[in-house]
Amino acid sequence: MDIRELKTPCYIVNDEEYENNLLTFKAAFTEAWGEKVAFGYSVKTNNLPYMLKQALAHGYVAEVVSPDELAFAARCGAVGEQVIYNGPQKGDTLLTALRSGAIVNLDNLDEVEAVCAAFAGTDTQPRLGLRVNFDLENLCPGETTCEGVPGRFGICLENGDFERAMERLRASGLKLSGLHLHQSSKTRSLSIYAAIAQKAVEIGRTYGLDGLDFVDMGGGYFGGNFFPGKPTIPQYADTICQTLREFYDPARTTLILEPGAAVLATAMDYLTAVLNIRAVRCHRIVTVDGSLLHINPMMRPHPTPFTMLDPGEESDAEQIIAGSTCMELDRFWPRDMHNLAEKGSRFLFHCCGAYMSTHNSNFINAAPNIYLCRNGEYTLLREKSIEPLFWGEGAQP
Ligand SMILES: *Cc1c(COP(=O)(O)O)cnc(C)c1O
Repeated sequence: MDIRELKTPCYIVNDEEYENNLLTFKAAFTEAWGEKVAFGYSVKTNNLPYMLKQALAHGYVAEVVSPDELAFAARCGAVGEQVIYNGPQKGDTLLTALRSGAIVNLDNLDEVEAVCAAFAGTDTQPRLGLRVNFDLENLCPGETTCEGVPGRFGICLENGDFERAMERLRASGLKLSGLHLHQSSKTRSLSIYAAIAQKAVEIGRTYGLDGLDFVDMGGGYFGGNFFPGKPTIPQYADTICQTLREFYDPARTTLILEPGAAVLATAMDYLTAVLNIRAVRCHRIVTVDGSLLHINPMMRPHPTPFTMLDPGEESDAEQIIAGSTCMELDRFWPRDMHNLAEKGSRFLFHCCGAYMSTHNSNFINAAPNIYLCRNGEYTLLREKSIEPLFWGEGAQP
């Protein structure tokens, strides 16, 4: 299949780019920290089975944040020690995952209680981490996603809950294996990761945690080589590792990373074709078969980089590129358009499917096809279908 034969709109996974991202991410952190490194593919970022299986084949484990993702990972072949389990909704699977050998990062004091009740006085030493909630906004003003309101995940350091959690584990004869420090940020800057690593060092010093099995830095990095002026993976690796080395020993403590977008973003494109061109007063309105909802559902004023395929003649005329849904605001945010779009033209948007290709609802359009591109050949990974709209139909009278 050739790119011209793809049924639009669709997402395209560039397999070579994905594989290269998986390899280079791993290599950069191995270089900076040493052999004791582990990588958890963030299933939340993209839950195409193919993506997780490729990551597993490259020595990654599955990083999951819900019982459903845990079950999904198991069906893709990630069980027991190949799982890192995070998030606030583990329920009964908290204990089953720990018993199976997964790393489980406890999100709150209820989870600490449940684990102490289940494992105190037993021979089992589960692989337990604590997710730390600390005031990152204060260290990096304006950079976090929760300016003005506290981050809501993990156990609060500043109010003494974190210390109480450690005390509770100790009193139950359980060892704290690690710290989990994932934080999302608006900037994904090096100073964010320097501050997180510095906090891990500070916590280690305060509580004498030099014997930890792991420090888990979470995800949230830019990846690939597509974002000019943004930090590169080796820069993240150097920043994090330099700081952690002030206290943690790379021969003793495993550094865990949980990349999602960093390995996926540059490997995903979105292709949409022109349906219709009309003039409305002085404006040229180009309607395409895709939708802004497929690449930017919050409709943020964020121009996604794109290439126009089969463009019309050169022109700097203003053009409105509108999606196919009946929402007035379904308009793309293109920039640097130097050609007219014509019937037959297509837009290939870049770096926009990491989250979005598996995040679609069936609003107006069923979720688009997803193709895999490998050695210039396209194969279908997931076919668009209205079947999900009929799930459970048979059960009704
Ligand atoms: C979302 C998430 C990730 C991955 O985030 P990216 O921005 O896709 O890298 C990693 N760890 C946890 C706990 C997450 O919630």
